[in-house]
Amino acid sequence: MDTSHDVLAELEILRAEISRLKPDAVYNDNGPVAVLFRILDDFSRPRQAELESRLNPLPWMIMPLDGELYPALTRIQQKINDLSHAAGHDHLTGLALRGVFEQTLHSEMERTRRSGLSLSLAILDIDDFKKINDICGHVHGDLVLRSVAAILRDNIRQSDLGVRLGGEEFAILMPDTTQTSGALLLARVMDAVRNLRFDCPNPAMKPQVTVSVGLACYKGFKKLQPQELVEMADQALYAAKQSGKNRLVKSPFRDISPELSSHTLVDSDEKNYLFRALSS
Ligand code: GH3
Ligand code: MG
Ligand code: MG
Repeated sequence: MDTSHDVLAELEILRAEISRLKPDAVYNDNGPVAVLFRILDDFSRPRQAELESRLNPLPWMIMPLDGELYPALTRIQQKINDLSHAAGHDHLTGLALRGVFEQTLHSEMERTRRSGLSLSLAILDIDDFKKINDICGHVHGDLVLRSVAAILRDNIRQSDLGVRLGGEEFAILMPDTTQTSGALLLARVMDAVRNLRFDCPNPAMKPQVTVSVGLACYKGFKKLQPQELVEMADQALYAAKQSGKNRLVKSPFRDISPELSSHTLVDSDEKNYLFRALSS
């Protein structure tokens, strides 16, 4: 446990270091001036380049903290990381929560507009989960939620985001993923869920676990609000439930021209997109 003395001692080393690099930053003619510290956890080259382009800092403003010289400050940063991870993640399943999802969705849609690489969003809802709770009990219901979350985690890529939107509803955000490859990943997830084995105190009545899925894809051609993409995936999920559950429904593309998207199958929408992209 670090004492405030440890922290202050390290801040003093830091102040002396900055003072050496840029005396005016710590003292000017009128006496001491304030320096605002912010500890960042990532000082990799890409992060450094990003900070430099965004903040245009003077050389002394951003510098690496050597963990050996600043153990208390390093531990504070670790604690901040742990707390912010805990605040953004669901304690039952370990998946990201809605707040993290909304932030990530916003920035990934921006990125898609710049890169032109497809972004896919799936919303998954466990079918008849109330029945699982009723037959097997809430505790076993919780275990099913954890197992479904583990299946999501095992099947997504590092760059994808697995989310618990609430209750028995999940999302997968897949950057740089076309609707076709998103659907392939989801087919694997749905298969793994169908094959899920779990304990139930009432084995004779034990239901099979299945999920319904709505999949929406964004190409970045038109400005679409994040909420609109969520609604597209939600409507597709609703259609999956209405047409018998345990299936995936793809939402029609909304950000290609209406002539192309109306009355066409979703897969041919994707082909249309590819031809547009090639000819433009
Ligand atoms: P549908 O196929 O239409 O989605 O039906 P459903 O039964 O899955 O949906 P419904 O919304 O009727 O019921 C969802 C249930 O999920 C009700 C709620 O008690 C249960 N639930 C929500 N959160 C949790 C949780 O954290 N743990 C457990 N065990 N159950 C939960
Ligand atoms: Mg459900
Ligand atoms: Mg639900």
